[in-house]
Amino acid sequence: MASNGYTNGYTNGYTNGHTSDRSGIEVSFDEADYAATDIIKRDFCIIGGGSTGTYTAVRLKDYNKSLVLIEKNDRLGGHAETYRDPASGVTLDIGVIVFGHLKEVKDYFQRFNVPLKKAEITMGAPDYVDFKTGRKHDFKPPVPEEIGAAMHKYAIQLMSYPEVQAGFALKYPISEDLLLPFGEYMKKYQLEGMIQAAFSYCQGYMPFLELSTLYVMKYWNADLLNTLSNGFLMTETNNIGELYSKAAQSLGSDVLLNSRVASMDRSASDAVEVVVDTPTGNRLIIAKKIISTIPHHKHNLAGFDLSDTEDSLFSQFTWSGFWAGVLKNTGLTQYHPIHTYGPDKVHGIPDMPGIYAINPSRAPGLYQFYYGGPGDLSEEEVKKDVIDSIKRIQKERSIEAASDPEIVKFANHTPFNLIVPNQAIRDGFYDKLYALQGQRNTWYNGASFHAQDSSVLWRFTEALLPRILESVK
Ligand SMILES: Cc1cc2nc3c(=O)[nH]c(=O)nc-3n(C[C@H](O)[C@H](O)[C@H](O)COP(=O)(O)OP(=O)(O)OC[C@H]3O[C@@H](n4cnc5c(N)ncnc54)[C@H](O)[C@@H]3O)c2cc1C
Repeated sequence: MASNGYTNGYTNGYTNGHTSDRSGIEVSFDEADYAATDIIKRDFCIIGGGSTGTYTAVRLKDYNKSLVLIEKNDRLGGHAETYRDPASGVTLDIGVIVFGHLKEVKDYFQRFNVPLKKAEITMGAPDYVDFKTGRKHDFKPPVPEEIGAAMHKYAIQLMSYPEVQAGFALKYPISEDLLLPFGEYMKKYQLEGMIQAAFSYCQGYMPFLELSTLYVMKYWNADLLNTLSNGFLMTETNNIGELYSKAAQSLGSDVLLNSRVASMDRSASDAVEVVVDTPTGNRLIIAKKIISTIPHHKHNLAGFDLSDTEDSLFSQFTWSGFWAGVLKNTGLTQYHPIHTYGPDKVHGIPDMPGIYAINPSRAPGLYQFYYGGPGDLSEEEVKKDVIDSIKRIQKERSIEAASDPEIVKFANHTPFNLIVPNQAIRDGFYDKLYALQGQRNTWYNGASFHAQDSSVLWRFTEALLPRILESVK
């Protein structure tokens, strides 16, 4: 059985009561209890303003549909976030950076006049370091020819599973290869040459060698392989935030930031009612349909009036923890990355939690880090381990830093990579999940319904849009 082996303790302090908001105060679905300005009537109520929710909102406007977009954070973008170094003014993308050569990607950036360029990987060969000791190891990764040959074999394998590339419309009985732990799958098909490359790209996927092959194939997918050979796209200014602020501008007051669902009623056949807790008080949203794009694990659906089926499906998801950020005062002067390495581990792939990589950034003196671990690690534990890891490297290299290392920006991307156990997959979990589409006036979208990849999620959205539009005719 493949499971991420972690316990997930993700709670957000909300009660899941049908009539209670976060402070336990009764909420009402009665229009008479709201000022006219607090009642929002729309075709769609989109929940989650990350990659998928924002794209869906922008595209629905193209079809002259009215909508409101609810986002819990103070900005759109989700895992896409940009840090601006106050000292140099340089912008650094600290989450989503690269995109594939898809029509949807090019059209989306073009409409907001955000230029793209081919991503440049100019950081040079990494040092391989055991972050638990700070020690550098003389690890020689496979040569490019070996990696290329393994990827070629893997690409042929992927062609056997087109259903995995397009979504989760899986064929039954499920191929047992898809359920093999990825480490065993690689061994079976002699793909070891690409294992380090796959591990360093599939950050947030844990424990990597034990994860069901299906989930790696969702991320390390055919589009990605294609993009790897053509080069990724990224914004010219290293500022993905520009796309999301322009999207937010175009959506205007239809975006409710710092807002969450307090309660919901989907019992009527022709409309849904959603009470949303916003910084200026509760709003009553009356919409024809809901489109939910948030990570669909049960605790994150507080306020939703889940059916027994929805409840039993979403309760099965587990996830990993993934964090990123920006460091200063590292005392490092090298302009090449430091990658994690587990001495005495198969293929040098270490046990997590720990840092995946520390990369030099475009901003003078700043380094970016990525950290993975169980979903219930606290931010404090992660921050402490990041700083301690830098100090261990400093000690190993006799670096006399003038000041202690400092995290100047910290981003919590947990919960990441929602998965279910192999037995659930065999028992038709994803068929049951997809059967929810359109039921109870609700459409589902986002990474938990497809893949952790913005480009393919936008294409997935395009494929779903005709059904969504048809449902409000
Ligand atoms: C560090 C990092 C780097 C990555 N790099 C890339 C990359 O370079 N290229 C790429 O294609 N992909 C990358 N990814 C994958 C990325 O996760 C996906 O591309 C994409 O963000 C998934 O889109 P989504 O809409 O499902 O989720 P998100 O973009 O995470 O959007 C979900 C949104 O819902 C909001 N939300 C959550 N719960 C609630 C709630 N209860 N109520 C209201 N709002 C809520 C969240 O705040 C968020 O804004 C990266 C991910 C991480 C973490």
